[in-house]
Amino acid sequence: MSALLEVEELTAAYGQVQALFGVSLKLEEGEALALMGRNGMGKTTTIACITRMLGARSGRIAFAGHDLGRLPSHKAARLGLGLVPEGRRAFRGLTVRENLMAAARKGEWTFDKVAELFPRLAERADQKAETLSGGEQQMLVIGRALMTNPRLLILDEATEGLAPVVRQEIWAAIRALKARGQSILIVDKSLKELATVADRCTVLERGRDVWHGTPAKLTPDLAHRFLGV
Ligand code: ATP
Repeated sequence: MSALLEVEELTAAYGQVQALFGVSLKLEEGEALALMGRNGMGKTTTIACITRMLGARSGRIAFAGHDLGRLPSHKAARLGLGLVPEGRRAFRGLTVRENLMAAARKGEWTFDKVAELFPRLAERADQKAETLSGGEQQMLVIGRALMTNPRLLILDEATEGLAPVVRQEIWAAIRALKARGQSILIVDKSLKELATVADRCTVLERGRDVWHGTPAKLTPDLAHRFLGV
């Protein structure tokens, strides 16, 4: 069986500035892959290429048996890529329920299921998104991605800048998603939490994948060398 997501020798640039110099990674169905690396090493750019927000210069991206290479981003999304981008982007003027329903597509995820995963959203169903705390907005954005019934959920720094309590709630939700078989590609700064979710890690350095392995194999020495922690 082929992998759910397979990226081979991806290169990409912003105008004259090359950001990716050959990134390869692989994610099997039901797996959680952590994409790691220090700031500016190309994690967000890799995600932008996978979700087709940014055109790759060269390389191959195969998802669920499709070559993503030429698809516009909305078509890639329809194949089952659910992105939670860096920064929080809910529709501020819409209520929590409206935000979720606007993203709904046929499948197992419903308003009630999301409300079960994030009880805070259930309590605030009829509140406008702009009145939510940062953490609640992040939950809403994850909920929106789930409402599309993604085959692959992509989380780019989903817990960045949030209060510890809310962070824990979001990690608990991510672990619950993983346990029910959701495929996940995740970027996050917390190694400790990543290790509780990720089956495997891919480390990027200056736009190249330089290390692949399980969280257990990422020794303190390696973490220091690759991530500066
Ligand atoms: P971070 O954790 O800081 O987001 P990252 O690993 O996600 O880091 P990228 O955002 O993918 O890194 O950036 C990779 C490289 O591309 C960096 O050198 C960055 O400066 C450059 N870059 C990113 N976005 C742009 C842009 N819109 N225009 C020009 N250069 C960019």
